[in-house]
Amino acid sequence: MDILKTKSEMHEWSKTRKKESKTICFVPTMGYLHQGHVSLLEKGRPLCDTLVLSIFVNPAQFGPNEDLDSYPSNIENDLALARKAGVTAVFLPRKDDIYPENFQTEIKLQSLPDHLCGKSRPIHFDGVAIVVTKLFNIILPDIAVFGQKDYQQLQIIRQLMLDLDLDIEIVAGEIIREKDGLAMSSRNAYLSESQRVSARSLFKSLNLARELIARGETRPGAIIRQMASFIQGFPETALDYISFCDPQTLEDVDSIKHPVLLAIAVKIGKTRLIDNALIDPSQ
Ligand code: AMP
Repeated sequence: MDILKTKSEMHEWSKTRKKESKTICFVPTMGYLHQGHVSLLEKGRPLCDTLVLSIFVNPAQFGPNEDLDSYPSNIENDLALARKAGVTAVFLPRKDDIYPENFQTEIKLQSLPDHLCGKSRPIHFDGVAIVVTKLFNIILPDIAVFGQKDYQQLQIIRQLMLDLDLDIEIVAGEIIREKDGLAMSSRNAYLSESQRVSARSLFKSLNLARELIARGETRPGAIIRQMASFIQGFPETALDYISFCDPQTLEDVDSIKHPVLLAIAVKIGKTRLIDNALIDPSQ
């Protein structure tokens, strides 16, 4: 497994692979890998001749009061998991290599970031869009794999591919969960034992919504009220949002008659967690 620490080394590596007519699959991450990340690597491995993993905690996607400085890291463990998953190359760039002094460009999408997480994280998706575009230009992937855990991010990347005419196939990986249903996240490491119990309320509330829909409830407001009071029954929870929305546009729906995305964000103590489910009311 090659380890590339500068963007020029990484770019040369990819150009060499291209000259050899090898295809490249790419999985971008912020590190502190867990089975959710590994599942994306495993999904990507058979799709191309080579598999590139990037580990980069992207400062551009963190707001001023967010956890950029405390974001967990364990590079040794990440490299061991990457090796096991068959990664061909790991890209570990420095921040000043990705964002040199006098960096000026922004990428802003017009409506997808106005919903869900974008409301409480106003610069987040601009930061995601710029770093993913740069990583794509450096790594030259044929395919890139993203998790549905960050559903809004996935939709934004898909839109970016269309808008910027980027010829990269975007593959989605399903949400990987702990045994008790909690969606895996590097941020779960911040949770105390009691907060970990409260964190289960996210997944449980998604199941509660599924049950209500299966019983014929079609009013988002009625379900959201029950989910909110369920979640608020757990200590240290502060609801950010619960939304039933169109899986493509992410706009709120006023009735659950077609497949919808149910997305939620909850703060458990200082840790902000997200989860979601695609729900088809006809099933
Ligand atoms: P992150 O390191 O949090 O930026 O995530 C890197 C990639 O892993 C993103 O595409 C995430 O959507 C994906 N990911 C994170 N958690 C999970 C999970 N529990 N299941 C599947 N994919 C995930």
